[in-house]
Amino acid sequence: MVTVAILGGGISGLSAAYYLGKLARSKTISKVILLEASSRLGGCIDTVRLDDGTIFERGPRSIRGQGAQGYNTLQLAEELGLSDHVLPIDRSHQATKNRFIYVNRELCRLPSGPGSLLMRQPPFSKSLVRLGWREPFVASHKVEDETIDSFFRRRFGDEIAKYAIDPLCRGIYSGSSQQLSMKACFPNLLEWEQQYHSVIKGALLAPKKKAPDAQGSRLVERYKSEHWSMWSLDTGLQKLPETLAMKLSQSDQVDICLDTPCTGLEFSDTTGKVKVKMSDKHEEVDYVFSALPARQFAVLLPSGHHQLAALLRHNPSVSVGVVNLQYEGNVLSTQGFGHLVPSCEPSNVLGVLYESCIFPVHNRPKGNNTRITCMMGGAWFKEMFGEADDVNTQEFGEIAAESIREQLHITKKPFRVIAGVVKNCIPQYQVGHTQSVQDMATYITQQSLPLSLIGASYDGVSINDCIHNTRLEVEKVLPSIEAMAH
Ligand SMILES: Cc1cc2nc3c(=O)[nH]c(=O)nc-3n(C[C@H](O)[C@H](O)[C@H](O)COP(=O)(O)OP(=O)(O)OC[C@H]3O[C@@H](n4cnc5c(N)ncnc54)[C@H](O)[C@@H]3O)c2cc1C
Repeated sequence: MVTVAILGGGISGLSAAYYLGKLARSKTISKVILLEASSRLGGCIDTVRLDDGTIFERGPRSIRGQGAQGYNTLQLAEELGLSDHVLPIDRSHQATKNRFIYVNRELCRLPSGPGSLLMRQPPFSKSLVRLGWREPFVASHKVEDETIDSFFRRRFGDEIAKYAIDPLCRGIYSGSSQQLSMKACFPNLLEWEQQYHSVIKGALLAPKKKAPDAQGSRLVERYKSEHWSMWSLDTGLQKLPETLAMKLSQSDQVDICLDTPCTGLEFSDTTGKVKVKMSDKHEEVDYVFSALPARQFAVLLPSGHHQLAALLRHNPSVSVGVVNLQYEGNVLSTQGFGHLVPSCEPSNVLGVLYESCIFPVHNRPKGNNTRITCMMGGAWFKEMFGEADDVNTQEFGEIAAESIREQLHITKKPFRVIAGVVKNCIPQYQVGHTQSVQDMATYITQQSLPLSLIGASYDGVSINDCIHNTRLEVEKVLPSIEAMAH
């Protein structure tokens, strides 16, 4: 009989427990202990449900449906019985089509669809087609990795790097395109440059990936036939970890321990077992999945593994100020997903989400009202606001309301402001990240450590990536875990 410990009760840790239960041969794993340091499960996924029926997200708010990763999450939602709770957004919805950037005190709609690529739209000086047509003729470089900014400036010019790519990185990673790694964040584009000497040629000539199989999932079929682009859940995304936890609690093998931080690990050379230390006790297990942010896991390793600890410390994580604001009436004159603010603009915010347009069902049911969320800080947190531990969150609320007044011309005062900081929440895949992840895997294999590293720190930060990569890792290591039973 084999025992497994999972460190961290975010979506990655919960998915690991779920897939171990689903995929392991019956009775091979006798016990799975999931340790979560805080008093709640879900990690970054954090829905606020208020008494008047308003729902706000302080972490992720939407999940994309596309590709193998997107299908896998839909399949998971279906397996958990959540199909009737899904809130889909289709491709013709304003939140899909209308995305903006805020430049020179103006909201500028980003091109969406082939027609708009031919039109000149501010802040660009020419249409995107005219700005990009030279790309196939730009000499290609053989580089192992480089920053996203340098790649796009080299191949597409300054305007695209400044007004399209810089805000995109602020939107996805709350990070700087001048620090994030091209190879880790956009591996296909880098490969196309190497193979076809052009991103555009690569997009046209590279063999198209076969559409993944729906694996008999009716929810995936609905996604396809109803042309969804993204989705959430009726009572917010927190329902996903909540339902996973409920399902896991029905199993005798799974033990979920809240308020129980792991304080250290010891690997035994003689027994092959791992001692998982907690503040007042320890457990001996056969295998460990770490679903912790990499830097937080590094401090738990015994001193003999400083080489692995150094690799785990390669990337910083950034803190994000999240401010949810609610206004009486329909105050949004612009409908869409939201706007991003490029780093060249003198603004304190990374972006603003028009929540009422994306998921109006999450509005307070009584009386017209508008929900907006402001994101701040990220890679610029320290220089703008100082240490995340010391900030005054009330000040954050005021900055957000002022930015909304200036950028969306909403002069009304919000009747509700919920401001907070999500500390060290988004890992920044810096140049060299892919190599570090490979080196970690090599180290773990060479040292024969009974250890898997899963979660947002390694191979994609989206919820889809976290769940899918966890599933792949469980599938990969399960045969050797099961073999320990004999
Ligand atoms: C503001 C924000 C907005 C986002 N928006 C989106 C979005 O719209 N769509 C999308 O797909 N993704 C989005 N993301 C990304 C996505 O939410 C995260 O990458 C993902 O949820 C990370 O999950 P995880 O389980 O890997 O890590 P986490 O959620 O960070 O979970 C790690 C867990 O480990 C616990 N822990 C830490 N130390 C210990 C210890 N020593 N012992 C035990 N437990 C410990 C923590 O308390 C935490 O619960 C967003 C992220 C943020 C922060």
